[in-house]
Amino acid sequence: MAETDLYGVLGVAKDASQAEIKKAYRKLSKKYHPDLNKAPDAAEKFKAVQDAYDVLGDEQKRSNYDQYGSADGAQGGFGGFGGGQQGGFGGFGGGGGFDDIFNQFFGGGGGQRNPNAPRPGRDLQYQMDLKFEEAIFGKKTKIKYTREAQCHTCGGNGAKPGTSPVICHQCGGSGYVTTETNTPLGRMRSQQPCPVCHGTGQEIKEKCPTCGGTGHTEDQHEVEVTIPAGVDDGQQMRLQGQGEAGQNGGGYGDLFIIFQVEPSKDFRRDGTEIYFNQDVSFVQATLGDDVTVKTVHGDVKLKVPAGTQGGTTFRLKGKGAPRLRGNGNGDEHVTVKVVTPKNLNKGQRDALRDFAKASGESVTGTGKGNLFNKMRDKFNEN
Ligand SMILES: [Zn+2]
Ligand SMILES: [Zn+2]
Repeated sequence: MAETDLYGVLGVAKDASQAEIKKAYRKLSKKYHPDLNKAPDAAEKFKAVQDAYDVLGDEQKRSNYDQYGSADGAQGGFGGFGGGQQGGFGGFGGGGGFDDIFNQFFGGGGGQRNPNAPRPGRDLQYQMDLKFEEAIFGKKTKIKYTREAQCHTCGGNGAKPGTSPVICHQCGGSGYVTTETNTPLGRMRSQQPCPVCHGTGQEIKEKCPTCGGTGHTEDQHEVEVTIPAGVDDGQQMRLQGQGEAGQNGGGYGDLFIIFQVEPSKDFRRDGTEIYFNQDVSFVQATLGDDVTVKTVHGDVKLKVPAGTQGGTTFRLKGKGAPRLRGNGNGDEHVTVKVVTPKNLNKGQRDALRDFAKASGESVTGTGKGNLFNKMRDKFNEN
């Protein structure tokens, strides 16, 4: 293990007072906290700061470190992580993703986990189905789900009301026991989770009757959710503190609601823009007309100018989906489809032949559908 200058990490002098160390730690852990700092190396720096403070913030460990100098020496000198570290985590109760860093630091590598440090609860996911219009206009709704909650009877400590957990008599609260064995290579020290408290550092003499000592109960939890207008398929919304209960006074995790939006029969949506196809007759397209067009905000009149070609797109300003940050709406894009008439009656056929004549056009077709075409058209209508 490489030697680390823990004083350098915190940017304090070797003879810094506890107050100076604490101040530097507070400042740096706030600066690099992964919830606040999105730089790629923030988590690593945060961990290093945490690491340094765990040692320098504790007089006993600090003197071990000063004596042995190297990280290896310091590690050997650790008498197990006591409660001193707890203060370091107090401020970050509800932070999402913190658990990962905690595990990375204390679970991996050579470090030991402080069994009594507060750990926030797990985050949960909830998939919510929305109709096309619900996603556009938002709605208020209530959702119900099962989550691990803090036990209401014991307040989460697992002890029968009127009693409290005591420090484990076997490990003295560290959660670990050290065994020494003689080997041909010398004396080997190894640390294992305490068999009495299973690493929690606490013994519960009389267990809470509601939770059986776990401090958690499974609850049917109900939350009112206000879905903002303009959410889209696949987007998620975070409800802080609506996840599962933490350990040792750590806050609740968060709930992530993931939206799944049903497609519309009429509209296609891309972000704030809505797309719609409008059929018009060739007469409307040729002579021009005011056409009634469907939008999610209700019907709108669209002026189709004379001589409009099929495939032309018109923009209806502000008739799209709302922008999430509340800055008006996107637009609706209406693409005109010119429908060619079928199954003409005699009057229509005559009128069109006159039209062709007036245009100087000579057309071979008669406009009369044959039996096969008529059957096919009927079939397509159904
Ligand atoms: Zn309980
Ligand atoms: Zn123990």
